[in-house]
Amino acid sequence: MISIKTPAELDAIREACRIVACAFQAIESLMVPGTPTIKIDEAVEKYIRSQGARPAFKGYPNPEGKAFPASACISIDEEVVHGIPDGRALKAGQIVGVDIGAEKEGFFGDSAVTYAIHPIDELRKRLMQATSEALMCGIAKAREGNRLSDISHAVESHARTYHFSVVRDLVGHGIGRKLHEEPQIPNYGSPGRGPALRENMVFAIEPMVNAGTYEVETIGDWLVVTRDRKPSAHFEHTIVVKNGDAEILTLRNQSG
Ligand code: MG
Ligand code: MG
Repeated sequence: MISIKTPAELDAIREACRIVACAFQAIESLMVPGTPTIKIDEAVEKYIRSQGARPAFKGYPNPEGKAFPASACISIDEEVVHGIPDGRALKAGQIVGVDIGAEKEGFFGDSAVTYAIHPIDELRKRLMQATSEALMCGIAKAREGNRLSDISHAVESHARTYHFSVVRDLVGHGIGRKLHEEPQIPNYGSPGRGPALRENMVFAIEPMVNAGTYEVETIGDWLVVTRDRKPSAHFEHTIVVKNGDAEILTLRNQSG
């Protein structure tokens, strides 16, 4: 069952998403060689708390009940998602996925960006471009009257034009009163399947695109890496199906 948000719920989700978007603005100057990833995490947490919100990932349990220890997931190169920030310093040539969630007054926003630590090679450049474009292709299908898998198909089709592969073990999701709500939104599959999309549904769409194999493995409690250790990129927006279209709630040009 996919929930349809009320206007009041949407206002609250909008605010959580604004905070997430502005948290990215707060870390942009840190995405340079030499910054330890823990510093990025601290800046994320500080900004989110300054807005009367809390970092949604901190304490979030994995399937075994182990709590995520940080505010942001920071995943470098072959790390796909769920990297735990630590003392490692960023280096030129890396691509670095930052995933941020915030909860305010019981409502959630979720977004991810992959940053280039310049200069980066052509493969990483194309991978980032393919993934951010694939996200926008998926978002363009999040319209009233379409089916859920139209999003999935659009993401995968676009990534394939670059001869890259999409991760299958991890998916996008509904969001609102919980960080992860129904439905799951795979980044692959045939179009025209699944529930019909309706006005005021809210989704986090999040392609993870790999330069090599789509296969991933989990190391320890959280970290997901590509099986062939080739790089991976991740972009995510929270969107609402609105006025027959998709409106992006985590756009990064908001004031805060
Ligand atoms: Mg998400
Ligand atoms: Mg996320």
